[in-house]
Amino acid sequence: MAELFVSDLHLDAQSPAANERFLAFLKEEAAQARVLYILGDLFEAWIGDDDPDPAKGRICEGLRELTGRGVPCFVLHGNRDFLLGAQFAARTGCRLLPDPVIATFDEEPVLLTHGDALCVDDHPYQELRTTVRAPTWQRRYLKLSLHTREMLANQVRRGSQAHTSRTVPYVMDVNAAAVDAVWRTGVSRIIHGHTHRPGIHTSTFAGRSVQRIVLGAWYEQGSYLRREAGRYTLCELNYCAPGAGASAGAR
Ligand code: MN
Repeated sequence: MAELFVSDLHLDAQSPAANERFLAFLKEEAAQARVLYILGDLFEAWIGDDDPDPAKGRICEGLRELTGRGVPCFVLHGNRDFLLGAQFAARTGCRLLPDPVIATFDEEPVLLTHGDALCVDDHPYQELRTTVRAPTWQRRYLKLSLHTREMLANQVRRGSQAHTSRTVPYVMDVNAAAVDAVWRTGVSRIIHGHTHRPGIHTSTFAGRSVQRIVLGAWYEQGSYLRREAGRYTLCELNYCAPGAGASAGAR
């Protein structure tokens, strides 16, 4: 049985094709898996566990069905949905994990992370991250009305889009020294998302083979990583017109 990994789905009411594809993925690929890991940014935004978006509600129901079938689902926070909390976990049957976390597959420790913490060259973003991850900030934010929280979330999203469009690409990618710091701990494999640059990067560090696997985003198509019999494969899921039937391609 396979372990599956996804991240950066960025689901909400504005992404109907991705929502449908993910719901189908939960019923098909994930239902056959041993476990599903969601490495952050499942949702485009999450303004609290009382988030009223019905599209996100359907995704939660889909997750509930999956875990109800006995497939464990682990979720890491992304930079968009870092407010996923205990009520989300109770509602979906998913388990929230700290970021980073070490998972063990066939006795091999693998570091799982959303990936934003590795992008240390992006100083304005790291400052924002420190602010919004502070428990006192989160408590204050969650006391605001839904309307105000929504407004603030939209503001941050627009600010982040503007920031992304004027920032040189290498700044938005992982920092080599931050990755080396992980290798130095003895781990030889990292799986992360966030950068939206799917790929499997194999290199050597201190004489041993190391591998950084980057998950793809779901903006134009679905994307997931399958680990089966010790082999890792990045897979794509095409979005199809209703009734056309879905197809999957691997790369
Ligand atoms: Mn992200």
